[in-house]
Amino acid sequence: MDGADGINAPTATSSTAAPTAGPSVGGSPVGGWTHRASHGVPAARPTARLRGMPDLRAPRGTRDLLPSERAVLGHLERVTRDLAGRYGYREMETPLFEQVSVFERGIGEVTDVVEKELFRLAPRTDEGDIYALRPEATAGIVRAYLQHGLQTLPQPVKVSLLGPMFRHDRPQAGRYRQFWQWDIEAIGDPGPALDAEIVELGARFYRDAGLEDVEILLNSIGDPACRPAYIEALRAHFRPRADRLPPVERARLETNPLRLLDSKDPRMTELNASAPSIVDHLCAECATHFEAVRAHLDELGIAYRLDIRLVRGLDYYTRTTFEFYRRGESGQQQALGGGGRYDGLVQLLGGKPTPGIGFALGLDRVMLALDQAGTAPAEGGEPLAVVVGADPAATALRLRIATGLRADGLAARADLGVRKLGRQLEGAARDGAHFAVIVGDELASGDVQLRDLEAGTQRTVRLDDLARELRRAAASHHHGTPERG
Ligand code: AMP
Repeated sequence: MDGADGINAPTATSSTAAPTAGPSVGGSPVGGWTHRASHGVPAARPTARLRGMPDLRAPRGTRDLLPSERAVLGHLERVTRDLAGRYGYREMETPLFEQVSVFERGIGEVTDVVEKELFRLAPRTDEGDIYALRPEATAGIVRAYLQHGLQTLPQPVKVSLLGPMFRHDRPQAGRYRQFWQWDIEAIGDPGPALDAEIVELGARFYRDAGLEDVEILLNSIGDPACRPAYIEALRAHFRPRADRLPPVERARLETNPLRLLDSKDPRMTELNASAPSIVDHLCAECATHFEAVRAHLDELGIAYRLDIRLVRGLDYYTRTTFEFYRRGESGQQQALGGGGRYDGLVQLLGGKPTPGIGFALGLDRVMLALDQAGTAPAEGGEPLAVVVGADPAATALRLRIATGLRADGLAARADLGVRKLGRQLEGAARDGAHFAVIVGDELASGDVQLRDLEAGTQRTVRLDDLARELRRAAASHHHGTPERG
């Protein structure tokens, strides 16, 4: 193996490495790739072979998930499916693109996500619809809820969606233009008990995924009854300081001053520190709701930190908002996930007033965190057995035996190279196979040799019994009992 300079993993020495690719994006960690690349996947190519080749690479801000990385996403997928099932959230899918107005209305036009980051698709026909790739899942799910009349089902409707989202943002570590989210929505219940259930579900996801040090930040951002007065208080705070605001924030002071609080601009930190707190401006209903959410979390023994700056980037949120961070980290770029209540969204998209709450957890950042912590699960996928043979040319025979084992539900591979038995056995060991099935002269009497590559033992087995023997040996191995030869 020649190192990590495959097409999608340029190194500084690669003459084709494009300086525009952005730090560590596209050249994602491939450590697992280099030492686990033996499962029938092509090896990374030497730099020399790349010279003079067309400079084709994954789009800026996207990354290939090579098998070892895809295995980590698979682990996270299994955790989400398991949790969704236990908590009563049913999986659904929405299209990867929607009419652009679903996002403009459902997220808000004065947001980074819509103003700057939406991947708009150039219209190909005169259909008249303008589409954009989904930057998040909630607006599409609520669109589907209305389109399919889900408000006639028992409420709340609880759904789960896992898939890629797209934002045309400046790529950097942990911020991609295509990234994966696990999204949960519960539509049709005003809370507050449900709010606590959902926060607890998010926290449990991180624990089950293997991240122990995740902290919950919590806030309430009020509702249309109390937020206007708070927004005026914010304007009153920032107007005398307008000359110190970065240009983008100065414009937002009039259009959407809440945005200032979760600004990514470091110049805002100090100005925000002295800003009035929304918690002091909640109306009685919102204050009661917030108290109840906190009481339910306390009852569950869930620790959280109040953060009055937590206003979320999207317009449709009301009342409860929360975010998940690794302990000691803060700021939008480090958020592992977040969510909140959006009691105004269904109406905004054309339905009757309907409460809703959900979260979106970014899976890329969990993958990175697991990688940093060294706790990412191994790829797995080693074959139980590799069928090898004394006659290098007898590839059809080896393939037939492996095909039979696979039909029996076993993970088996045949060595299909025309090479000596010794080389075939080396290949089986490199693949991490537990057993080698050695086909030789004994086949004339219906026997093969079964070699335990881990124990270094070997015995004769009837070909007719091979699948059963392998299954039994594998089971006793997994239970820690040494195989009896
Ligand atoms: P948001 O809807 O912006 O709060 O996103 C929810 C979560 O998705 C964030 O906390 C991140 O973990 C993740 N996320 C959002 N944008 C990106 C991105 N561009 N790249 C990777 N992860 C992202």
